[in-house]
Amino acid sequence: MNQTLRDQMFQQMEQKELLSQAQNKAFDYLDNALERNVFPTEQAIENLSSFDEALPKAICNPTDVLQQLHQYGSPATVTQIGGRYFGLVNGGIIPVSLAAKWLNDVWDQNTPLYVTSPVVSKLEQVCEQWLKELFNLPQSTVAGFVSGSSMAILCGLAAARYRIFQNNNWDINRKGFSGAPKIRIITSRHTHGTVVKAIALLGFGIDNVEWVDVDDQGRIITSQLPELNQNCIVILQAGNVNSGSFDEFDEICDRANQQGSWVHIDGAFGLWAEAAEQLRHLTQGINKAHSWSVDGHKTLNTPYDSGIVLCNDKEALVNALQASGSYIVYTDNRDGMHYTPEMSRRARAVELWATLKYLGKQGIDDLVYGLHQRAVQLSQELNAEGFEILNDVVFNQILVSCGDQELTDKIITHIQQSGECWVGGSKWFDEPVIRISVCSWATTQKDISRTIQAFVNARNSTQTNP
Ligand SMILES: *Cc1c(COP(=O)(O)O)cnc(C)c1O
Repeated sequence: MNQTLRDQMFQQMEQKELLSQAQNKAFDYLDNALERNVFPTEQAIENLSSFDEALPKAICNPTDVLQQLHQYGSPATVTQIGGRYFGLVNGGIIPVSLAAKWLNDVWDQNTPLYVTSPVVSKLEQVCEQWLKELFNLPQSTVAGFVSGSSMAILCGLAAARYRIFQNNNWDINRKGFSGAPKIRIITSRHTHGTVVKAIALLGFGIDNVEWVDVDDQGRIITSQLPELNQNCIVILQAGNVNSGSFDEFDEICDRANQQGSWVHIDGAFGLWAEAAEQLRHLTQGINKAHSWSVDGHKTLNTPYDSGIVLCNDKEALVNALQASGSYIVYTDNRDGMHYTPEMSRRARAVELWATLKYLGKQGIDDLVYGLHQRAVQLSQELNAEGFEILNDVVFNQILVSCGDQELTDKIITHIQQSGECWVGGSKWFDEPVIRISVCSWATTQKDISRTIQAFVNARNSTQTNP
């Protein structure tokens, strides 16, 4: 690198002018975010064409880089940090976790090993312990800090694959699938798409899955589970992505454990029910499973991206994600890469730690139960306005029926374009529905009222302009 450029960059680090410009822009965003459209306006999206430019030939002014990002980027964001975004299962952001992320950004740690970041090794260890306590999992459980539940599910099922093959005297790492004993994958017809993805990635084959029917809430029908044996991996869910319902962990885990099967629980957002006293009945028996996947960035409202794989078979997880290299220095301290597929990784445990430390047990209980309370309020008020709610609102998810596909689409479009809130569509047993996920601490009773009004206005508009 030429000396002038290097000098410029040293100066940028020393003078911190760019960082304070970024901070000013971030403050400006925060000042306006809560009242702006939840989804960007058409104009804001058109203006994104300002990014369609040739790769610059030479160095430019970094201030201009930030300015372009704020001027055209900020208005085209989805207002994820406010209280009226109800799409997917997208959590908001706890202020101290955002602040911790800024500090973490300046640290720019890489986290494979203790020697690449002692502080992150320590914080991962603390988070692992605290999560075990919050979810009431066995003390022998280990945690890997990954990008989200997609990756956590993949890791949990990779550990399952390693162990179940090992129990059948087969080293899957060395021998692969050719000539391997047959492993059975059992899950519900409502299993999440990322579970299906992991099944495909791990080579099990989607067509080989033994699908089990679900009841009217989307829970696996326990009595319809096939006979289990020591070749089985059973995948359950804590929080159906549409209805928010929970499978019957207690009974299914007992059966699986009697037969030597492995149980993985996809609890991306729902595992947190265990951390709320009044919702804990939903997760009864989760501690008897073998692996779990859960997100920080959904229910807990940490920044993206933050997922955790938990596994009560350290040897299986570590062997499944085996890593080696002559330059790698292992220590007696926690080396994070043993528990994740990646080697280089950002230090997402920093924000997770800050969130857990700030909220504590009581704060987490309040947060999780609060999401449930708001969801119940929203469903009751929608119902009072004549909208039909199709699911039992046991957690934070609401399914609203409002007619055929065409009418449902019209109402969704009207709500989205109003900018008042954002909800998406889904199918519930082939019926078109509007799907609401209450997942941000920032959602207030007033946000709920505005949301109800947006629904009513949307329905009225379809009645006046059929
Ligand atoms: C969101 C979700 C996933 C995927 O999680 P990511 O963090 O988006 O990778 C998996 N399962 C369920 C039930 C989910 O809600």
